Amino acid sequence: MSARTTPIPTFVDSLSFARSGETLAGEYTVSGMVRLQGLLASGDGTIRFQLSGSMTAGRPTLQLLLDAELRLVCQRCLEPYTQSVRSVSDMPIARDERELARWESDDPLIDGQIADPKLDVRNLAEDEILLSLPLMPRHAEGECSLGYECSPGDESSPAVD
Ligand SMILES: [Zn+2]
Repeated sequence: MSARTTPIPTFVDSLSFARSGETLAGEYTVSGMVRLQGLLASGDGTIRFQLSGSMTAGRPTLQLLLDAELRLVCQRCLEPYTQSVRSVSDMPIARDERELARWESDDPLIDGQIADPKLDVRNLAEDEILLSLPLMPRHAEGECSLGYECSPGDESSPAVD
């Protein structure tokens, strides 16, 4: 696996990026992501990303695709394991708060953001990965050293301290 040699810009102008339909793709190492690292069993994962702009439903929209393999700690056996994390986020970019408020009144589920001439792409990727991590990290069925049966619908059981 060779790393990309093209440097990834730290910041993009979110509104013009979305409007012009640009695409940016690359990889981040988790070693630069302080908030994420605190949740990981080790800091040697990578996060592949693709950020692309489009006009969607008449709104300049950023789409962020993320694909990562991270080392988490299984909450059943407390051993590290590799978790695949994928996420797709569509973020309409509003010019200002008034425009965003108008979009939100049209569509309460919209995940809009206000235009940011210096959008920190890595920080955005970290935010989205944090939202995509499992609430109860654990080995896949059959791969845990504590191999007891665990019903697939067990997501709601509270963590035990
Ligand atoms: Zn386990």
